[in-house]
Parts: sequence; C-alpha cells; structure tokens
Amino acid sequence: MSAIRREFECLRCGACCRAEGEVWLETGEPQTIADELGISEIEFIDHYTKLTHDHRGLTLIERPDGACIFLMPDNTCRIHNAKPRQCRDYPSRWRSRRLDSQCAGRRAQEAGK
Ligand code: SF4
Repeated sequence: MSAIRREFECLRCGACCRAEGEVWLETGEPQTIADELGISEIEFIDHYTKLTHDHRGLTLIERPDGACIFLMPDNTCRIHNAKPRQCRDYPSRWRSRRLDSQCAGRRAQEAGK
C-alpha cells in the first residue's frame, strides 16, 4: 500500500515572494496586471518592471529588502487575481531546494503534517 501524499497548502509565509531571483512576465501579463491595478500597460511597465538580467524580457521590481514590490505586509499578494504564471506555478511546476527549505507550506507537506 502506498502512502497518500499530503497536498500542498500555501501557509502565507511569503517566502516565495522574498526569494532571490526574478519574476518573469509572459506575453500579455503586463496588460493583465495593469488592468487589475487600474492603470495603463505603459504606466505599469514604467513603475513596476525592469529588464531581466539577460535583457530578454521584463521582471517585477523588488523592494530594497528584496521582496516583490507587490508583497503586502500581511504576506498576501496585491495582484493576487492577476499574478504572473511563474508565481502561480510554484511549487507544482517548478521548485528549488533553497526555496523549499524556506517555504512553510512545502516544509509541512514534506513532514506530512
Ligand atoms: S506577484 Fe504576488 S505572488 Fe508573485 S512574487 Fe509578487 S507578491 Fe508574490
């Protein structure tokens, strides 16, 4: 008999939104996020993005402490309904050992609690 693996549950620790690295934006996401914020796409790009390190696309800017610009004090996402695919895909479609070690939900999942 195989063990039933516990489902991942986000515990709102905010670790993935403070993780080192870039939040890449896919085609169409700048407009979707701009609509959510009630601003134009160009305003969104000017105020909330910068070029990725390889200059191939756009990434969200960070606060001085490294947290995503859209991470709220209570660890919720200001653009939750329009957040980028990269954010929605963690941890089901991508993960890293370093981030998993910081994520409360992943630690609980691994511990089977
Ligand atoms: S967009 Fe939202 S979910 Fe994605 S890193 Fe920023 S705060 Fe976190």
